[in-house]
Amino acid sequence: MKTKIIGGGPAGMYFAILMKKADAARDIIVYERNGPDDTFGWGVVFSGKTLANLCAADEVSHAEITRDFEAWDNVDVVHRDQKISIHGNSFSGIARIRLLKILQRRCEELGIEIKFRTEITNVDSLRSDCDLLVGADGVNSIVRQTFAKDFQPDLSTRPNKYIWYGTNQLFHGLTLTFRQTPAGIFAVHSYKFDKHTSTFIVESDPETWSEAGFSEMSDDNTRSYLEHVFQKDLDGRPLLLNNSKWINFVLVKNRRWRFENVVLLGDALHTAHFSIGSGTKLAMEDAIALKQCFDQTADVAAALQSFESTRKPIIEDYQAAAYESMLWFENARDYIHLSPIELAYSLMTRSGRVDRESLQGRDPEFIAAYDRATD
Ligand SMILES: Cc1cc2nc3c(=O)[nH]c(=O)nc-3n(C[C@H](O)[C@H](O)[C@H](O)COP(=O)(O)OP(=O)(O)OC[C@H]3O[C@@H](n4cnc5c(N)ncnc54)[C@H](O)[C@@H]3O)c2cc1C
Repeated sequence: MKTKIIGGGPAGMYFAILMKKADAARDIIVYERNGPDDTFGWGVVFSGKTLANLCAADEVSHAEITRDFEAWDNVDVVHRDQKISIHGNSFSGIARIRLLKILQRRCEELGIEIKFRTEITNVDSLRSDCDLLVGADGVNSIVRQTFAKDFQPDLSTRPNKYIWYGTNQLFHGLTLTFRQTPAGIFAVHSYKFDKHTSTFIVESDPETWSEAGFSEMSDDNTRSYLEHVFQKDLDGRPLLLNNSKWINFVLVKNRRWRFENVVLLGDALHTAHFSIGSGTKLAMEDAIALKQCFDQTADVAAALQSFESTRKPIIEDYQAAAYESMLWFENARDYIHLSPIELAYSLMTRSGRVDRESLQGRDPEFIAAYDRATD
């Protein structure tokens, strides 16, 4: 089977790895517009359950990924200078570039060709020259655009703005920080992903963003402004740039997931708000699910149909939880009057997937403190 994959991100490379590992005779090429060392962003997060799925799918890359993971079990909520810790949430962080390097090496080991610095502009001609074309080309997917009539995408640009920085201030655990300023409210999602660096994503509603005057501000002034807002949290350390710009989250859904011999994977197919930190997880688990469909049949149309019917309900469930989480952050103004522990409880239960009972199981002391505070 001749397979062409557009996009050498986690979805595309991981699918290539799993397919080649299952059958070394498969002819697989990955096309990636960037070079092997280019990346955006900082760290990504996996849950304990995702790691178990990655281990079952490919022990070799799993061992590499977990070798120097930064693991934690706490979510910290910082509000009015008070930190509330909630334990029992198993997560790990890794630098995106490190994850990509591990997957690149594994591709090389298995004999998968990655054509770097190759931007695909004509998808149709590529697809006529293979049995399977995979669009793993991220949130602005050209594959999805080319066959928009068939995939019937639904894209919604959300109102909040966010900007992705790094910092050498280490946040041990997923730390959600809120700061009220004269311009409005800023929220930060931060976590350590290696020995020296944390991801630091600042989110703001459009009113706060306008009031602060970011539309007129240079990148340097934006960074200084936010360093000032979060001075205490950063302990005076600088924010680190990596092409950091304010952007709006785009919620991606597709009515159909496949078209003849073409299928979408990862962010090209669906997005889930970063506040539930699951984009990379979903991308790699898509790859596992699609490969499992090819374990059942070599018929491309049948495998793609099975992928859509088995995976779509799982993704819809995730997107529903992520949607609730995203709405919480979009409406953070409505919660900011809460005391720190009430805000922490509201945050922990925001997606509808975690309730009082499960929090009681994870961290009984947190629930006891919450009951004392709200009695
Ligand atoms: C602020 C923010 C925070 C996030 N935090 C987390 C997190 O904590 N945990 C987590 O798991 N995920 C997180 N994510 C999401 C995560 O980055 C993505 O969901 C994940 O990378 C999806 O993988 P992918 O392979 O589908 O797409 P991508 O990683 O976007 O890869 C797509 C690849 O395709 C290439 N490409 C695109 N077009 C072409 C073309 N025409 N020709 C050739 N190549 C092309 C691109 O260069 C890219 O390398 C976050 C995202 C954002 C924006």
